[in-house]
Amino acid sequence: MPEIRDRLFIGGEWTSSRSGQTFGVVDPSTEEVIATVARGTAGDVGDAVGAAREAFNGPWRRLTPEDRSRLLYRVARVLESRLDEFAELETLDTGKPLQHSRSEISGCVRYFDYYAGAADKIHGETIPLGPDYLNYTVREPLGVTAHIVPWNAPLSMVCRSLAPALAAGNTAVVKPAEQTPLTALKFAEVFLELDFPPGIYNVVAGFGEDAGKALSEHPGIDSITFTGSVETGRAVLKAAAEHVKPVVLELGGKSPQIVFADCDLELAANEVAKGLFSNAGQYCDAGSRLLVEDSIRETFLKKVIENARAIKLGAGIDDPDMGPLVSAEHFERVLNYIDTGQKEGAHMLIGGCAEGFEKGYFVAPTIFDKVERGMRIAQEEIFGPVLVTLSFNGEDEAIDIANDSSYGLAAGIFTRNIDRALRFASEIQAGYVMINEYFSGGIGSPFGGYKLSGYGRERGLVALENYTQIKNTVVKISVRACCL
Ligand code: NAD
Repeated sequence: MPEIRDRLFIGGEWTSSRSGQTFGVVDPSTEEVIATVARGTAGDVGDAVGAAREAFNGPWRRLTPEDRSRLLYRVARVLESRLDEFAELETLDTGKPLQHSRSEISGCVRYFDYYAGAADKIHGETIPLGPDYLNYTVREPLGVTAHIVPWNAPLSMVCRSLAPALAAGNTAVVKPAEQTPLTALKFAEVFLELDFPPGIYNVVAGFGEDAGKALSEHPGIDSITFTGSVETGRAVLKAAAEHVKPVVLELGGKSPQIVFADCDLELAANEVAKGLFSNAGQYCDAGSRLLVEDSIRETFLKKVIENARAIKLGAGIDDPDMGPLVSAEHFERVLNYIDTGQKEGAHMLIGGCAEGFEKGYFVAPTIFDKVERGMRIAQEEIFGPVLVTLSFNGEDEAIDIANDSSYGLAAGIFTRNIDRALRFASEIQAGYVMINEYFSGGIGSPFGGYKLSGYGRERGLVALENYTQIKNTVVKISVRACCL
């Protein structure tokens, strides 16, 4: 097992929590406690914000963009050289298969490479006012950025916002989810190894109701990037309003995968299964609503069921196709939704609680058919391996059902008709649209939601706007004395 860091990381040092409290971290594959971690509260958050402020006002601010870029490239190289170690820890903490953890940690490396390359290209502009003026803008860092992240892709969610924030010259305080704090803490080793000035990366592990709340309410932060549920997002937004802090909200989803009769059915069936069952349905952009054209419903569902049945469940560390859900609480929540679906009158074709496991929070790939759009399982984010199927007749009905959701994060469209695909892409209310492949795109592609899925965009160059503010300076140029 990789070495576990069980203390907070503040101002470049490992520290116990001020209160002395700790909490247990459980491997969801075995239900065993694998670590006891310092539980940060408001006092620790205050210390971390103070350390981040000092670093921002001091050495970090004086670095040239080129030096910052070089340092961030080095973060990428060190993380890359330790990829297996971080992947193993992520798997133990979340239960996700090793191959998924590896791919997520590779994504973290890519975040640092991508934004390292951008650090010295954050330009302002000049605005013409005629020969008597110089009018220019610069993009300045905000200062201390707060990053509150969920448990479903722990280090990936940290790096997605941390890398652009640091590239733009900010410092950071990270609050990982209480279920999965281990990789965010261990990541501090990289900053120590590279002799980063203390206080640039701070991690306060702890619970939402105290560490998370204290961080979002702290007057000393300059922005919040929040990734998590709608309910918590609202609380964070209210806290930020008190001190008028900018917020990026990356919230939940109930993303449709829309399958037209003219698509490549084999390809679509593979993509639909991948789009929902990857990470046991615990991705915000999981394609959890299958909208299938009526004429192919039965044939298509058979194919998806075949794919779902082929998925091997097991402990993440054994690298199966699908691991357990993240926690006992979440396991109960997902099973409740499965129960609700049956009570609402939908037909469960396969799935439910996985058999053959004495320990661990395993739910089998579950598929519901005959789902009506008003049902709770059609509207609410389950965040588990539960696919709900609705059928449609023709494009108009398809778009109507697809947009009948309070969420608007992602959408997948499967058709061989390019006009239809592009019409659909334009009409769908979602921030991220994928045609004929689910989870396509990458770190350069802006990601974020419409409607209750949040606002602001992560990834891509546009994310740098979340971590900079524009200063406009206008200079009046004096007329030469000889010309007076
Ligand atoms: P959550 O809202 O319960 O928790 C997210 C984070 O907020 C955790 O670190 C938690 O400790 C903290 N928190 C809880 N209460 C808080 C409070 N009052 N003030 C400040 N912080 C608080 O979400 P979760 O269950 O950890 O994650 C699942 C959700 O995240 C799903 O809805 C999923 O769709 C969403 N998600 C969205 C994206 C995206 O990019 N849009 C990515 C991943 C996950």
